[in-house]
Amino acid sequence: MSRACGSGQGNAYHSRGPLHIYTSLNQISNFTSKMFAKNSIASKGKTVLSRHLNRSVVGKRFLSSFSLALTDEQQAFKELARSFARDVMMPKSAEYDQSGEFPQEIFKQAWELGLVNTHIPVEQGGMGLHCLDGVIISEEFAYACTGMSTAIEANLLAAMPVIIGGNKEQKDNYLGRLLEAPIQAAYGVSEPGAGSDVAAIQTRADKKGDEYVINGSKTWITNGGRAQESGGWYFVLAVTDPEASAGKRMTGFVIDADTPGIEVGAKLKNMGQKCSDTRPIYFEDVVVKKENILGEVGQGFRLAMGAFDFTRPPVAIGAVGLARRAMDEAKQYALERKTMGAPIAQHQAVSFMLADMAMGIEASRLLTYKAANIIDAGTKNTMYASMAKAFAADHANKCATDAVQIFGGAGFNTDYPVEKLMRDAKIFQLYEGTSQIQRLIISREMMGQDLSP
Ligand SMILES: Cc1cc2nc3c(=O)[nH]c(=O)nc-3n(C[C@H](O)[C@H](O)[C@H](O)COP(=O)(O)OP(=O)(O)OC[C@H]3O[C@@H](n4cnc5c(N)ncnc54)[C@H](O)[C@@H]3O)c2cc1C
Repeated sequence: MSRACGSGQGNAYHSRGPLHIYTSLNQISNFTSKMFAKNSIASKGKTVLSRHLNRSVVGKRFLSSFSLALTDEQQAFKELARSFARDVMMPKSAEYDQSGEFPQEIFKQAWELGLVNTHIPVEQGGMGLHCLDGVIISEEFAYACTGMSTAIEANLLAAMPVIIGGNKEQKDNYLGRLLEAPIQAAYGVSEPGAGSDVAAIQTRADKKGDEYVINGSKTWITNGGRAQESGGWYFVLAVTDPEASAGKRMTGFVIDADTPGIEVGAKLKNMGQKCSDTRPIYFEDVVVKKENILGEVGQGFRLAMGAFDFTRPPVAIGAVGLARRAMDEAKQYALERKTMGAPIAQHQAVSFMLADMAMGIEASRLLTYKAANIIDAGTKNTMYASMAKAFAADHANKCATDAVQIFGGAGFNTDYPVEKLMRDAKIFQLYEGTSQIQRLIISREMMGQDLSP
């Protein structure tokens, strides 16, 4: 499992033996021989096809990467995450939803098992898992409780700008600390006046000699309070050159959360994912050194947005996990609940809702795996990450709403599990870019791409 994040060395699928590929190619070849022997035009076609089949390097890579089978390591991680989710997270899910308390004890247990901070590079002592590996773990956590899975996994969003843009000292210090103790970090970009429109942030970092003085406020910051309480840190995006264009106006900083002048506001009371710690953070004359700058001055926007290519697939799979839970709960209930002398699962109106859930879950997962697979292969995945996030988020909301429908009146009641799923689902269409912003990205990206397979 010692593969560096986004290293571009190809993913684990490429290492699988080529035997099955040759078998498939031979089968295709035999089939086309029989078909094309009948006429000469087809014969020409056969020659072209054979030429392509003989270019086996491309064929091997494509067929190999398309395999949907998990590696032994991925399977082992999935099983570990699944049993942790079932045995540790699920029994506590309703309790944390009601209390709104941060699930530090659960976080600590997951951290001890090596299921947190999995993408920290090997150079810093981490496992350096690929995006897809983490996605496989995340689906299991989200199936149990997306409040807890967001709480457990938000470190990834904070860590990603450091992984992308940090120098060795910054990585050793800030990423290393996440491995030394079960602490939290947070990604501080959104502000009261700037969410979707990141370029409109107002927080300023003014240069004074070798130091920068930060003033402003952030809001909706996941782990905002926990990062300070646990001795963690923040990634902060601030304006360093107000006159520059959006792409050069901002700089990313990595800052200890207990730096004087940083004040954390009260926990925000959200509709769902209640145990996740979301807070405003205020900066008043916060002095940081130039060593706290990530990458170059003026590169912050690129770092903050670049992180999403890696983090959106895990968010998308969170929606898939929630959708699968909604489907399973609804299916179970539909098999037990009877009306008009039959289980409601036998009424087509109900069973078709379940069929739609199953179809969309499969499609969401495939799209998410593809988005993760592309970045693991070292290729730009921005469009696919947005597609996966938007598609999975929309489908999770449909699944949760339909699960409530299938439960009837009981679906509206807090003694049953599906109302929580409906509350928890909504945020997937909002955080890490709303569903409208994902469509904006997709529409921009697709203009410059040939989308033929
Ligand atoms: C629980 C929670 C956790 C969060 N965690 C973090 C975090 O850890 N760090 C962080 O930095 N931020 C975080 N956020 C902030 C989140 O990313 C923003 O809320 C989100 O990007 C939307 O921004 P906004 O709320 O300002 O809405 P706005 O940007 O004001 O958007 C309002 C509506 O207008 C639509 N809209 C806006 N612009 C366009 C456009 N150009 N075209 C079409 N439609 C548009 C939006 O889709 C939305 O429907 C979190 C938010 C929540 C609720």
